[in-house]
Amino acid sequence: MGNPVFRPFISKLTGSLEIMQNASVTHIEKPQDRPEERWYISIEDNQPVFAKNIILTMPAPQTNALLPEYLTELKQTTLEALYDPCIAILAGVEMPLSSSIFLNNSELLDKPILLDKGNIGWSIAKWSHSVENNTAYLSVIIHANPEFSSKHIEEDVSTFPDRLWKEWKSHLKTDARFDVSALPKHISYLKGHKWRYARVTKTADEECERTNQKYSIALAGDWLEGPRIESAWISGRNAAISLLPQD
Ligand SMILES: Cc1cc2nc3c(=O)[nH]c(=O)nc-3n(C[C@H](O)[C@H](O)[C@H](O)COP(=O)(O)OP(=O)(O)OC[C@H]3O[C@@H](n4cnc5c(N)ncnc54)[C@H](O)[C@@H]3O)c2cc1C
Repeated sequence: MGNPVFRPFISKLTGSLEIMQNASVTHIEKPQDRPEERWYISIEDNQPVFAKNIILTMPAPQTNALLPEYLTELKQTTLEALYDPCIAILAGVEMPLSSSIFLNNSELLDKPILLDKGNIGWSIAKWSHSVENNTAYLSVIIHANPEFSSKHIEEDVSTFPDRLWKEWKSHLKTDARFDVSALPKHISYLKGHKWRYARVTKTADEECERTNQKYSIALAGDWLEGPRIESAWISGRNAAISLLPQD
């Protein structure tokens, strides 16, 4: 579907839509006694928007914060979901393609390296290369496991990249996939990211309200279906259908 890149697929889906990016919704409002009115949506540093229907697709706690108090059933639904956080880092290293680590190790450039040990819940590393520039590039994504991520989620993100990168290398050393000590001291790219609502560990119960047709508002998101992108898609589709006029 997204091969070789995702952009055409996304562009096809969004071509006819008006999309406002980097816009934080601060408030949604509709008088309780006038459900037929349009929703008034406040957006940080932007003009407000009016809408006949709303589908809220934020993570459950952020959806909860936006819902008006009188939509008690929908608010209750958002309290059902639980998440694990995830601390992730991206690392990139460059070195000469003529380096000894590639000699007699042709698989190294072809096969991704998957590793999950210690504080690392999941990681993938892949070499790419340019013969023209005599350079090989190693790109690494590391996810800390839920225990580590939960323990450190409130700390400054700059404290993790170095620590997790070193840990990844130390595990690889014992794994003997290649001589880690041959990697250059200088790392070209190293950046961390914290995801507070990364992985849904409990979805809202199926019986919980997801749509309020009287007020034309529905909920969507992975937290209603399961911890994967396709679950988010399914819940979004269900939410849209639930707001369409019923025959
Ligand atoms: C590090 C990581 C790796 C993952 N890898 C995979 C994978 O390989 N395969 C897979 O299937 N799933 C993966 N997932 C899970 C997948 O990303 C989620 O299941 C999916 O993105 C959920 O989609 P969503 O639309 O429900 O929520 P999100 O993608 O979380 O979207 C919610 C959006 O709401 C926005 N938002 C929040 N509050 C406001 C506000 N007040 N105003 C405006 N916008 C707001 C947020 O900025 C965010 O963009 C991964 C998740 C993480 C964190």
